[in-house]
Amino acid sequence: MFDLIISNGTIIDGSDSPSFNADIGIVSDRIKSIGDLSGYERKKNIDAKGFIVSPGFIDTHAHSDGVLLIDPQHANGIRQGITTEILGQDGLSYAPLSKENYKIYRKYLSGILGEPPEDLDMSSIKKFRSHYNEKVSINTAYPIAHGALRLEVLGFRDLPMRGKYLDKAKDLIVQGMSDGAIGLATGLSYHPQAWSDTEELIELCKVVKEYGGVYITHLRDVNIDRSYGGGNVAEALEIGRRSGVKVHFSHFRTAPNNPGKTDEILDPIDKAKKEGIDITLELYPYPTGSTFPMSFLPSPDHSGGIDEMKKLLNEQNSRNRIINYLNDKPLSDAVLTYVPKNISYEGMTILDISRSRKLSLGETLVELLDECDMQIGYLGAPPQNIKVWNQLSRDALKLLSRPDYMIGSDAIPLGSMPHPRAYGTFPRFLGRFRRNFGGVKLETLIQRVTQNPADRFGLKNRGLIKEGYFADITIFDSEKFIDNSTYDDPKQFPSGIPFVIVNGQIAVDQEVCTGIFAGRAIP
Ligand SMILES: [Zn+2]
Repeated sequence: MFDLIISNGTIIDGSDSPSFNADIGIVSDRIKSIGDLSGYERKKNIDAKGFIVSPGFIDTHAHSDGVLLIDPQHANGIRQGITTEILGQDGLSYAPLSKENYKIYRKYLSGILGEPPEDLDMSSIKKFRSHYNEKVSINTAYPIAHGALRLEVLGFRDLPMRGKYLDKAKDLIVQGMSDGAIGLATGLSYHPQAWSDTEELIELCKVVKEYGGVYITHLRDVNIDRSYGGGNVAEALEIGRRSGVKVHFSHFRTAPNNPGKTDEILDPIDKAKKEGIDITLELYPYPTGSTFPMSFLPSPDHSGGIDEMKKLLNEQNSRNRIINYLNDKPLSDAVLTYVPKNISYEGMTILDISRSRKLSLGETLVELLDECDMQIGYLGAPPQNIKVWNQLSRDALKLLSRPDYMIGSDAIPLGSMPHPRAYGTFPRFLGRFRRNFGGVKLETLIQRVTQNPADRFGLKNRGLIKEGYFADITIFDSEKFIDNSTYDDPKQFPSGIPFVIVNGQIAVDQEVCTGIFAGRAIP
């Protein structure tokens, strides 16, 4: 007796093999049989005739750490066919942190992660994982967040991590990897991560390597004087070279300033791979990014966290200095996505607000940060030149066709006007781009978002439709499935993905979320 049979579907198994027709029989949380199961008894049946049945999609870069703890249904993710998300991205997350430090970092990160309950125990990776295990709709995996690690060891201060501090950080990595972390993630334009230097990261990654973990990096553009080779790609490659760790590049793609230059951006990566450095990469299918603008403030001004930063905004000399600094930043195309203290600003540009207030861009941002308790998210408006935008879309599909690429949505599902990547990334790539631009088989693209990340991040018995594997399954219409989320109307779910199954449980049924929270903290 099967608990569930998915009958008559076309299976794409995640290994980039050609599709085939078969039934899938599920018992408890696993795939028990693949073949002709007509005539077998079943408690439930999904007729998948005319649909593709593939492993659930794995999102290698999601900022859902806080949101999942408030809204465990997580419809924006699961409705895309995502069954696993890798959290902790850019080193912006909550563990390992003491009670006091969790309060500090939770507040600091509220513009990008929202406001999860204040009384959670985040003191270890084990505790962190327990808040998600069988309490949310999707599976979650966690690389130790470099921001949390640094805060826990050194406080919110620009200090070098050496001697006993480095020893403590290494001990926390050993503990975290033993608790089920999959590596170490950093974002070197964020704080306190940006106060590190290359030597610190090499030392930490030596420990990560011992446990077979991955170093996930959003590249450095802050404090480049303390990094190898001026930060950016050179620093990440040096960390891989000297520690031997596996390196994974976050959102590595072309942008409005270099459309079509995929070969150029990958040249140093391909050279380093020939040299023996183990590298993978990820990207999302949109031309611009999104983050929290508080991160733009000068590096030294982040010392002490939000309370200290607010004092600086209210002291005349430092306020003027910060305004001058921000006036040089590219703020004119910044669209506010999340302003919980004044939601009427969501969807407006900083430029609009600066005109109505008759202030400079820097002055406007400082006023907004101050008024809104620093809790603001924004996105970059898409390019006005549609030809450039189309080229960036083609570039993205070309990059994803490489065997070392996977998808990281970089989703920030907050506010009324989030970046559309939070709702549309997977169907946009695998549906819209594949059909519009052609040249890449669906089987290949499915491999990039299933087996590829499962192998890379050690997600055991996931990422394939295979007997004995966990039943994480997405069922979609290959000709119709498409993203409906846009920059001007972002909170729209995709169409053409009627069923999503997580650990054998039906999480989406006929495009409706079932409220079943079967996601596990993995691997
Ligand atoms: Zn990110």
